[in-house]
Amino acid sequence: HAFTTFTAAGALLFAIALMQDSFRMAFRDELTGLPSRRDLNERLMGLGKRYVIAMLDVDHFKKFNDTHGHDVGDQVLKMVAAKMAAVSGGGLAFRYGGEEFTVLFPGKDIAHALPHLEALRRAVEEHSLALRAPDRPEAEETGREQRGKPRAGKSVSVTISIGVAERSDKLPATPDVLNAADKALYRAKRGGRNQVSQ
Ligand code: GH3
Ligand code: MG
Ligand code: MG
Repeated sequence: HAFTTFTAAGALLFAIALMQDSFRMAFRDELTGLPSRRDLNERLMGLGKRYVIAMLDVDHFKKFNDTHGHDVGDQVLKMVAAKMAAVSGGGLAFRYGGEEFTVLFPGKDIAHALPHLEALRRAVEEHSLALRAPDRPEAEETGREQRGKPRAGKSVSVTISIGVAERSDKLPATPDVLNAADKALYRAKRGGRNQVSQ
């Protein structure tokens, strides 16, 4: 009897784990593949006394969309997300929403995080994205030779601003740290963008 109970309990736990997994996948951000804000909120619970939060925002992105179109904007967000996912120093990347991202460094202090965030900022700045020729060019003949090739010389790039804060006795709760990172981001914007502020 006990064996049957254990087996049933095991099967139930397995089913629950499976459901949680597909639940999590469903909340992965569709465009960038990064964990979402919801995942961030989960990760923010149960952090220790030491961690760093960085808020990142693409500079002048509204204008970028207006100039190059929303699809190119989406491509840029994917590129930025890929750089973020590869951030060094133990940083965990999330898409906070829109063109805003978060990098969390559990167990680290700000002195540790800064050079990794600076490297990330630079990696985005230095990446240039080749623009592809439109899928359906108006003239069929030029279209044939252009198809699939990058439009000669045309490439785009973006910059990001980063605000960073660490948990401390002055900022003991997670909302305090998030708020401080947001304020630091605002300073980075006001200071001329394409920079890390604390
Ligand atoms: P700032 O440097 O001050 O951040 O200026 P900004 O133009 O980036 O700031 P704002 O918040 O006014 O604009 C954000 C823009 O990001 C507006 C919106 O069209 C664009 N955006 C948000 N989410 C997406 C997305 O998923 N794809 C694309 N292509 N654009 C997005
Ligand atoms: Mg924004
Ligand atoms: Mg922006």
